Amino acid sequence: MPTATNSRYLLAADIGGTWTRAACYPWPWKGEAPPRPLARVRRPTDPEDPTSGLVAALREVWPREGRVHGVGVAAPGPLDPYRGVVLFAPNLPAWREEPLQARLEAALGVPVRIGNDANLAALGEARYGAGRGREHVLYLTLGTGVGGGVVCHGRLLEGRQGLAGELGHITVDPQGPPCACGGRGHLEALASGTALVRAAQEALPTHPDTLLHRVRPLTAEAIARAARQGDALARDLLARAGRWVGVALADLCHIFNPEVVVLGGGVSRGGPWLWDALREALDACLMRPEYRPQVRPAALGDDAGLLGAYALWG
Ligand SMILES: [Zn+2]
Repeated sequence: MPTATNSRYLLAADIGGTWTRAACYPWPWKGEAPPRPLARVRRPTDPEDPTSGLVAALREVWPREGRVHGVGVAAPGPLDPYRGVVLFAPNLPAWREEPLQARLEAALGVPVRIGNDANLAALGEARYGAGRGREHVLYLTLGTGVGGGVVCHGRLLEGRQGLAGELGHITVDPQGPPCACGGRGHLEALASGTALVRAAQEALPTHPDTLLHRVRPLTAEAIARAARQGDALARDLLARAGRWVGVALADLCHIFNPEVVVLGGGVSRGGPWLWDALREALDACLMRPEYRPQVRPAALGDDAGLLGAYALWG
């Protein structure tokens, strides 16, 4: 626990359906290297009362002396960062129009800013991770769902209600499979971990020789492992997902013209089968080679949201 009397700190938290993370960082922080936390904690999210669990996690890393400048929180959304309200969170049903910022400020007595977790992961990667030193960064996380965020001129693009950056729900195949959001053929329905596993399950009956018959549980990580072991179906599934990501990224590059595209999430660890297909589709779909970004794996891992919440303060 930090104790220096004259020091100032910024606290950051990242709350998800499974884990609530909180950390205490020095403030202000110069330079492009990520600030090093002086204290950090991870505890299971309380599904009944996530806000109280979040307050408890922040109190655990609260410095005994010195001054807390503010608190930044990455939370699942959709949420309104201007009003500080979580509209609803599919993985946290207890939150409906949750006035998270106001409740945290009342409990902690310091100013609080909140942001969408995928947007803040984008900001974290742009400021301190794979996009650091660059002004125009696009971030895509290929996990259970597909999320993302856009950083333009060094600033997070938030939109009128703070709802911008839903990069997983752009339509890439209007005849494609249904998406968890109710739409059809969205990037999330074709290239998330969930989509990859569903495509594998559908292919199993017609591929008697694949290693995937023996894999329990069938996950995106297991499919990547089978690909490394030479499994043709696993490699094909990863390449298909990679192609859809490449197609979507071409559209996004035409719109936002990023210097760097950062890819995170479990599916992004799909090896050369995913990455080669992605780059090939991206190149094939770009209008002009000038639009071609550098495409890099995410660098911050689980800390992207925390560091994005920190970066909300400057
Ligand atoms: Zn969707």
